Amino acid sequence: MVVATVLNAQPKQPKNIIFMVGDGMGVAQVYSSIVAMKGKSNFERFPYTGFSKTYSYSDFTTDSGAGGTALFTGSKVNNKAIALSPDGKPLTTLLEKAQQKGMATGFVVSTIVNCATPSATYAHVSNRDQFDSITLQLSQSDLDFFSGGGLMYFEQKNRKDGLSPIDTLTKRGFEMVYTLDDLQKVNADKIGALLTPERPVGYPERGEILSVATLKAIEHLSKKGDGFVLMIEGSQIDYGGHDTSITKVVNEVVDFDKVIGLVLDYAMQDGETLVIVTADHETGGLTLPFGSIKDGNVEAKFTTTHHTGVMVPVFAYGPGAENFVGIMENTDLYHKIRQIMQWEK
Ligand code: MG
Ligand code: ZN
Repeated sequence: MVVATVLNAQPKQPKNIIFMVGDGMGVAQVYSSIVAMKGKSNFERFPYTGFSKTYSYSDFTTDSGAGGTALFTGSKVNNKAIALSPDGKPLTTLLEKAQQKGMATGFVVSTIVNCATPSATYAHVSNRDQFDSITLQLSQSDLDFFSGGGLMYFEQKNRKDGLSPIDTLTKRGFEMVYTLDDLQKVNADKIGALLTPERPVGYPERGEILSVATLKAIEHLSKKGDGFVLMIEGSQIDYGGHDTSITKVVNEVVDFDKVIGLVLDYAMQDGETLVIVTADHETGGLTLPFGSIKDGNVEAKFTTTHHTGVMVPVFAYGPGAENFVGIMENTDLYHKIRQIMQWEK
């Protein structure tokens, strides 16, 4: 059978995992970018697709704290919690597990690095708004690379606890950079990029911080040799939904799509990288009653300014990708990764 031959040609266990999250990216958000790009979408390059049920431990409609926690720890938790169980126990994250296995780890986001989604890869707090604590936990983490915005949270003068996470990072061997130029040039054992004082603005105004940092992250983490886990978030698709702005949604998904293209190019050449793209939840209750694929126009209707509880899409490529099909729990993705990587419980 031809299909079986193709599948068997790939190694079963990937060396690297690139886990991509479009925050607030439901099917309509993905399709709005496909239409806007007149069909030239990187989403259409994935051979395996499925759906993820996003409800949290406490609510039909999740927030990004519980949503990220489900994806990165395999546990449903209370809304707002970051990698912390409903009974207050820290949950080991995918990146922490990979660190224990000697793999390199990192993340790249287009919002502040201590926002809910990236936090769920390295922090353990009951409320995503505990920014000082989250920032401190990032400075004490065993990540090898991170990039995003939010420098102000790391500076002593802006903190109630009088601590300086930026000093902690430097003391722990991180080379800190604050511009995209410096990020491209830097060569160090551990790299931290804080590219804006506060939250980066929307795309395209913020520039190529997601694409450039992704390429740097892959270059840096793949050099380490023992495989890597990289989390990439298209963070601001969610903000487009909250603002009920289809222009914002399309711009943000187009930016994310470009990064998906870069990642797939790498994975196709590398042959040992499992790529998963999904969302933590949908935002805005977006639907597209009218549009034109020929002209690249979409007419949108948002039904809420909040998150919704609908299923979100899952896309997978690479060794093990065939496991990410059908209707899954958001927590299944983590457990499937553990199984594919043959990590014991
Ligand atoms: Mg997020
Ligand atoms: Zn949101």
